[in-house]
Amino acid sequence: MDSIVPECTICSEGYEVDGRKVPILLDCGHTFCRDCISQLEIALDQKCFTCQQSVLKYDNKRKVQNLKKNYELVQILEQIVKEKERNQLVILIACCPASIQVNHFRDFFVTQLENKPDAPILMHTQEQSFIQEKVIELVYPNVTNRGRAAFELHEKVYRYGLDINQSCIIVSLNEEREKQLPKSFKASLQKYDFVMIQYNVPMMRNTHTDLIRIDHPPVGFNYRDALFLEKQINYTNGLKIEQQDLAVRYYSYQNIVFVVIYVGSCGKIERIIEFLKQSKFDYTSQRVKATIEHQLHQPNNYLQFKRI
Ligand SMILES: [Zn+2]
Ligand SMILES: [Zn+2]
Repeated sequence: MDSIVPECTICSEGYEVDGRKVPILLDCGHTFCRDCISQLEIALDQKCFTCQQSVLKYDNKRKVQNLKKNYELVQILEQIVKEKERNQLVILIACCPASIQVNHFRDFFVTQLENKPDAPILMHTQEQSFIQEKVIELVYPNVTNRGRAAFELHEKVYRYGLDINQSCIIVSLNEEREKQLPKSFKASLQKYDFVMIQYNVPMMRNTHTDLIRIDHPPVGFNYRDALFLEKQINYTNGLKIEQQDLAVRYYSYQNIVFVVIYVGSCGKIERIIEFLKQSKFDYTSQRVKATIEHQLHQPNNYLQFKRI
């Protein structure tokens, strides 16, 4: 059942729980939105729009910002919001450059979902992020069976062959995957019904400081090498793999080739950078070492493999 949001009789816009459209109760008992009532502040007579009683005296204490909300109405509004959220399905999809087929993903999987052709699709790039993930946020306003909708998407992702090692997409609906997500991360995603993030990089991370990006990995370096490097770093730095605190991923898309080391909550980024700079690695029959090439966004986490 759809509840109709009560609206302000002056501007005919729906009231909101907070902000410019919050309902304000005047002394006369009439209610209008904050926006409309602010007009009274500059009006000479300062009378209620409906009953014409003087409601604002020439007194600072009676300024609009000091007037009380209509709390009863706010309560009703909150219930309406909750009810709406119950029927809303929100899907968040974050893809790294390796799975840049975001449009393909959207057209092929998302739009095939039944019952919800009306999802506004918000696509944005995490500009501030070191790896510039593409993020798709889907908000379906009215989905009666959310479990089923999410399940359908989950099924399609796997059925239509996104190679798990290449796709860099995880559907956290999968129970096994869910178990791997750290609690803090799960909590931060709770408002989403359905989350896909870079494959197997489920840790909580800060986009500014906890990535190490290594450009120009040796020719032939692939995701197996990335997993090997991951094991080496974990082993040498005493990180436990089951804590999911570190993940090394290899990304290749058109001319962009790089390795990203995601460091979670372990706080060992400095140590890991030191380790990389000091160690020699054998990859694709090349002996390489990580060196700092130049400073990009952050001075310490932009490295390059050099042949030695
Ligand atoms: Zn209004
Ligand atoms: Zn009035």
